[in-house]
Amino acid sequence: PHVIEFEKIKELQRSYDKVDLSKVSTFADLPLSDHTLNGLKDNSFTHPTEIQKASLLYSLQGNDILGAAKTGSGKTLAFLIPVLESLYCQRWTRLDGLGALILTPTRELALQIFETLKKVGKNHGFSAGLIIGGKDLKFETKRIDQCNIVIGTPGRILQHMNENPLFDCVTMKILVLDEADRCLDMGFERDMNCIIENLPPERQTLLFSATQTKSVKDLVRLSLRNPMYVSVHEHAK
Ligand code: ADP
Ligand code: MG
Repeated sequence: PHVIEFEKIKELQRSYDKVDLSKVSTFADLPLSDHTLNGLKDNSFTHPTEIQKASLLYSLQGNDILGAAKTGSGKTLAFLIPVLESLYCQRWTRLDGLGALILTPTRELALQIFETLKKVGKNHGFSAGLIIGGKDLKFETKRIDQCNIVIGTPGRILQHMNENPLFDCVTMKILVLDEADRCLDMGFERDMNCIIENLPPERQTLLFSATQTKSVKDLVRLSLRNPMYVSVHEHAK
């Protein structure tokens, strides 16, 4: 079974360069693992949105992404799919520690991302955790050292980085900065800079922001390497 899985991954990676984006209509037209495709299908996600279609192939290929798209355009799957596929292709297991870190400005957004990840990523068997703090800690992950994917708000993540020896980022491979402009507006600039400076430089970063202000550009310079710029202006539905 291991050999078969290995061959499947090789085949998947070979096909990244052969995809003709103009012919992509459904998620099944993209080179995705069966685990992810079935997770999408089971939740009735059949056709990628514009931002998903425009960015997925590049993020799957391992590029850093600077994605510009407004609220409601489907950014969550635009970063969760490459997170899942990246860990899958690296044959990540539950024992391999933290592989992906997702920063988002609010606890509500973190919870939404967590719920989507649980649904769409269920076949992969990775463990996911929340670091969001706040008044009641009932949602916060206790076994942080056993999480492969951590979703959190910048202030609380930095606190764990500084104070919790179980939160170890050295194995981290993929960073997501969701709603980066909103994070900055909320005063998280210093926290985010500190977090980014403490992460392994050999990583992939996906940054999504509705606007491209001066402070977003500063963050882009700090966090991304040769990013693909993917901008989408969808018509109102
Ligand atoms: P954003 O983060 O850009 O504001 P979300 O990722 O939260 O957008 O998605 C907005 C809504 O669109 C959600 O209800 C989500 O379930 C839905 N959605 C996302 N991608 C798809 C898709 N490919 N097909 C159908 N619905 C989708
Ligand atoms: Mg979002």
